[in-house]
Amino acid sequence: MSKCKGYAALEARAPLGPYSFERREPREHDIVIDIKYCGVCHSDIHQTRDEWSAYQEESIFPMVPGHEIAGIVEAVGSKVTKYKVGDKVGVGCFVDSCRTCSECRQGLEQYCTVGTIWTYNGRDKEGKPTYGGYSNKIVVDENYALRMPENLPFDACAPLLCAGITLYSPLKHWNAGPGKKVAIIGLGGLGHMGVKLAHALGAEVTVLSQSLKKKADGKRLGADHFYATSDPETFTKLAGYFDLILNTVSAEIDWNQYLNLLKTDGTMVVVGLPEKDVPLAAFSLTARRRSVAGSQIGGIRETQEMLDFCAKHGVACDIEVVPIQKINEAYERVLKSDVRYRFVIDMASLGKE
Ligand code: NAP
Ligand code: ZN
Ligand code: ZN
Repeated sequence: MSKCKGYAALEARAPLGPYSFERREPREHDIVIDIKYCGVCHSDIHQTRDEWSAYQEESIFPMVPGHEIAGIVEAVGSKVTKYKVGDKVGVGCFVDSCRTCSECRQGLEQYCTVGTIWTYNGRDKEGKPTYGGYSNKIVVDENYALRMPENLPFDACAPLLCAGITLYSPLKHWNAGPGKKVAIIGLGGLGHMGVKLAHALGAEVTVLSQSLKKKADGKRLGADHFYATSDPETFTKLAGYFDLILNTVSAEIDWNQYLNLLKTDGTMVVVGLPEKDVPLAAFSLTARRRSVAGSQIGGIRETQEMLDFCAKHGVACDIEVVPIQKINEAYERVLKSDVRYRFVIDMASLGKE
């Protein structure tokens, strides 16, 4: 076991503070990563506040969050072939899976039927809690690490590992591209990556935000259109307009109102994970043979494809780098939709309190 330091919530809803813990000694196929940056996902807030208890077996405290991890390989196990010391690597939302079920064999480890092993707030194959990237080091099997773009700023690539792949996967699955009208609801961490990626894929992109405050940013990120959902006219003007809507909102909103914006055979994909259930009217779907679907991050293969796509198209995240001591403040700002557009923790700040 090796000693690690990080930041944890000691119990549900507690503010995060310094925390020491242990990680396993590297096994034959493990790499040890010196974490340089970790993105702050709204899921970190939901989980440290135990807002998903209705949908999860347990929440494990103390909880060290963080699943947008960018770091440098510091050591490798004896049988590692994919990475060497000094490589720039990433770790996303999961660190292992059963590897044998049909989903795992298809590269859909995030839907492993035996159980995806989450990067934090999960249990490894020995039943021990996993700890995430708000920490100085992580030990992970080489098959669950990613190769990071060489040509883009390292800190701005960390959030690709969750925000990036969570939007890339449904955009690809539902064929976003030239001639397709795509809407992104919510211009936060996920949403801003949705705009950049849908634009890079050649789709017509519309942002549906609560107000027009972020309009200039939306256009700069690649949006063709930008509407405020606080304006009731938005919903009459855009009725029946979209092929695909990606809903990234972290709170409960009226899905029926947004389904009405889909054309015949259109799909709304839910990626935002609010605390409470959202009611759905049958008529919202039957009226135009519409679908509502969900999507969860992406598998290792697709995450690597997304990172390579971003390297090729020069796509990284818009970030605000913060020291880890500011993490509780950053959470409050995310909750107020006051982030442009992802906080990234500079891990060099760890231990400097
Ligand atoms: P975020 O940065 O907070 O962005 C969410 C955006 O939603 C906000 O910026 C805001 O955009 C909008 N919003 C917030 N509250 C709203 C409200 N009450 N009504 C209408 N719009 C509201 O969060 P994130 O990190 O992008 O994550 C978004 C959600 O996705 C979270 O629930 C997270 O847990 C979930 N998530 C899911 C997956 C997955 O695999 N499915 C992966 C990662 C995260 P505007 O200011 O533009 O209105
Ligand atoms: Zn996330
Ligand atoms: Zn599996």
